[in-house]
Amino acid sequence: MSELERKRDRAPVPSAWEYATAPEARDIVQIRDRYGHFIGGEWTDPAETYSTIAPSSEETLAEVGQATSEEVGLAVEAARDAFTNGWSDVSPSERAKYLFRIARILQERSREFAVLESLNGGKPIRESRDVDLPLSAAHFFYYAGWADKLEYAFPNRKPRPIGVAGQIVPWNFPLLMLSWKIAPALAAGNTVVLKPAETTPLSALLFADVLRQAELPPGVVNIVTGDGRTGAALVEHPDVDKIAFTGSTEVGKSIQRQLAGTGKHLTLELGGKAANVIFDDAALDQAVEGIVNGIYFNQGHVCCAGSRLLVQESIYEPLIGKLKRRLATLRVGDPLDKNTDVGAINSKQQLDKIKELVAAGEEEGAEIYQPPCRLPEKGYWFAPTVFTNVAQSYRIAQEEIFGPVLSVLTFRTPDEAVEKANNTPYGLSAGVWTEKGSRILAMAQQLRAGVIWANTYNRFDPASPFGGYKESGFGREGGRHGLEPYLEFE
Ligand code: NDP
Repeated sequence: MSELERKRDRAPVPSAWEYATAPEARDIVQIRDRYGHFIGGEWTDPAETYSTIAPSSEETLAEVGQATSEEVGLAVEAARDAFTNGWSDVSPSERAKYLFRIARILQERSREFAVLESLNGGKPIRESRDVDLPLSAAHFFYYAGWADKLEYAFPNRKPRPIGVAGQIVPWNFPLLMLSWKIAPALAAGNTVVLKPAETTPLSALLFADVLRQAELPPGVVNIVTGDGRTGAALVEHPDVDKIAFTGSTEVGKSIQRQLAGTGKHLTLELGGKAANVIFDDAALDQAVEGIVNGIYFNQGHVCCAGSRLLVQESIYEPLIGKLKRRLATLRVGDPLDKNTDVGAINSKQQLDKIKELVAAGEEEGAEIYQPPCRLPEKGYWFAPTVFTNVAQSYRIAQEEIFGPVLSVLTFRTPDEAVEKANNTPYGLSAGVWTEKGSRILAMAQQLRAGVIWANTYNRFDPASPFGGYKESGFGREGGRHGLEPYLEFE
């Protein structure tokens, strides 16, 4: 018997296998105590500030500016000045070089950004490291490639930039949404004023440092932080030529009303209540992984989350059994721990909204399942949740919960699946799980959703357009289509 085998025989067998914590080091990122706005390539001293926190611990991370309409005005002025005095004369291939530089710097500094994104937003480091950061860099790489090929992208249409773009992004993918917006705007030759969400301003402020490192001319991208009032000031500003908004349907509708008749260009990427449809011939274990990825990825703070699960009746029992077993293995906790699957809820306000809708689900008669899991005492947390016995009329089947909560419904025939999937005011995304290619194509033709995944879920690629129908908004981001909203044609 070898030495190793002897030792193994003597080692006590653990009664339970626990994951040891594997925290990512925080010291790679330097957070300043106080941030101003990034206007004309300089940091300003803000008139008002507020505290931004880590939702997993409620610890204050920094003081950041609450931009007033005057400060928003300065940012728009800087963007206009940069547009008319320089940026519009920069040759397309030079513009591309800036974008390539930004992409490479994001790659080089990806760990720093990933840690900051998880700290300020609450999402697991595994996701910020493996999804948000690589995709952000990929967007800049992708649009860098288009900057000097606009004539080919839109043959015979003579594209030209619109001017100053006001961009408002939400808190669920702060850096990724910034990249989705800034990369095509710059590739098309526009200048930008960006407002990150109130709860997650830090990665946008660190991005200002990347812009300086890339030596982007001052004023081409300006960043103003603050709450909805700052966003409203940007929307209202008369010298902004285009508004690109991602966020709630309610705010999106009010922006559309406000801009009606002003001639400003507008794109809206709003909410969703996607159906993830599982047919009885689907590979069940893979489907379970897709369901989990569809709704528990980023704590369900995903506009295209597969929040309504439609299961064919004949496989309902085995599928739900497998799903519940899989849920019990999800690790909820410290976003900076590399083992964590489900991180913190982004804010107290969002947690309250999730709790309210979950209570409504129980009251209306749905059956709730949550795996046993110990939630940290400080911070904002919600256990992964599945509702079965859900009727289409219940609020949890109709409204966007934007949290780790899945509502399960059943169907018998493909027609019934289509009818139920389309029974929503939204139309952003959907998933189809079946082994039949023809069924995938037939479903994709009938589902009223901008993005349809087949035998996978929540997959993104910069070359692929993303956007909605109906109350999920209009306009596309990503791909060649994503350039069009930033261009005018002769
Ligand atoms: P909002 O739509 O309020 O936030 C999106 C962005 O718009 C933020 O930067 C926000 O600033 C800004 N904003 C708020 N009010 C105005 C306004 N009047 N004019 C211009 N900009 C404005 O979403 P919430 O954060 O309030 O979340 C509420 C719900 O919206 C969520 O529960 C979820 O259901 C949905 N949502 C959907 C998203 C999506 O990607 N589809 C993303 C985020 C939320 P501030 O951060 O200061 O409020």
